[in-house]
Amino acid sequence: MNAPAKTEDFAIKIPDGVYAETVLSVEHYTDHLFRFRMTRPAGFRFRSGEFAMIGLMVGDKPIYRAYSIASPAWDEELEFFSIKVPDGPLTSHLQAIKPGDTVLMRKKPTGTLVLDALTPGRRLYMFSTGTGIAPFASLIRDPETYEKFEEVILTHTCRDVAELKYGFDLVEEIKNHEFLSEIVGDKLKHYATVTREDYPFKGRITTLIENGKLFSDLGVPALDPAIDRGMICGSSAMLKDTKELLENAGLTEGANNKPAEFVIERAFVG
Ligand SMILES: Cc1cc2nc3c(=O)[nH]c(=O)nc-3n(C[C@H](O)[C@H](O)[C@H](O)COP(=O)(O)OP(=O)(O)OC[C@H]3O[C@@H](n4cnc5c(N)ncnc54)[C@H](O)[C@@H]3O)c2cc1C
Repeated sequence: MNAPAKTEDFAIKIPDGVYAETVLSVEHYTDHLFRFRMTRPAGFRFRSGEFAMIGLMVGDKPIYRAYSIASPAWDEELEFFSIKVPDGPLTSHLQAIKPGDTVLMRKKPTGTLVLDALTPGRRLYMFSTGTGIAPFASLIRDPETYEKFEEVILTHTCRDVAELKYGFDLVEEIKNHEFLSEIVGDKLKHYATVTREDYPFKGRITTLIENGKLFSDLGVPALDPAIDRGMICGSSAMLKDTKELLENAGLTEGANNKPAEFVIERAFVG
């Protein structure tokens, strides 16, 4: 595996419309998951929940993939939460980045998991599996989320307990954060479940919605289109199944140009 290049190695090759940013920190969670933080370009604006194309020079060619920005819009740095795909064209290299390395980012962020795409409501559900927690890592750290909703429920389902750690770290970071802790208070509920190990909360989120365990565990009523809003981020199969359950409960899918009761985005292609 080649070490990722530093800016000076390819400064003249950086394409137009692309930022070259410096990695600040890297934290590995499991053999398959890590997070990293990098500098934020001056003038780079995005809405919490959006994704951008990030990349690396591999040889003399850039390779880009879509990545949800996991940090909130107000943060001076950018954070990402990443899978490590064995032999993945990007992540087999990205997993080796170290502070000081250069990561590329295309200039235009986009996405549907934004507060603007939802009509007003009282309770916001964020349903995520695996790295699908990334856009919600941004939104749960954005004060606007708590201005718009009285209660925010983040569900995160993974195969193994070790894969839940990023979510627990986020909640801990919010609790310890000077101003976020006050804004968030007890409005955020984190509901973590696993599918392949013993754990107090077990099962696919769709099963737990269907059998009502999600709601009884949280002490909230069943889904109600007058009150509840949803955001979903996971595999194509998870999106399809969760979307169906929300639609059965009477919620309709929205978009940036047509806000409604829930929005979805794929956590990866495949
Ligand atoms: C809108 C959008 C947002 C995304 N946000 C993120 C993010 O925040 N973090 C992140 O790690 N990835 C994210 N992805 C996936 C990302 O774009 C890449 O697919 C991933 O980084 C792997 O790149 P690769 O080149 O190594 O392998 P690829 O060739 O891109 O992927 C190889 C195969 O690995 C599997 N795979 C890829 N990504 C994932 C994943 N995240 N979880 C489980 N299996 C996966 C799929 O089966 C895929 O076919 C996002 C994708 C989309 C469409």
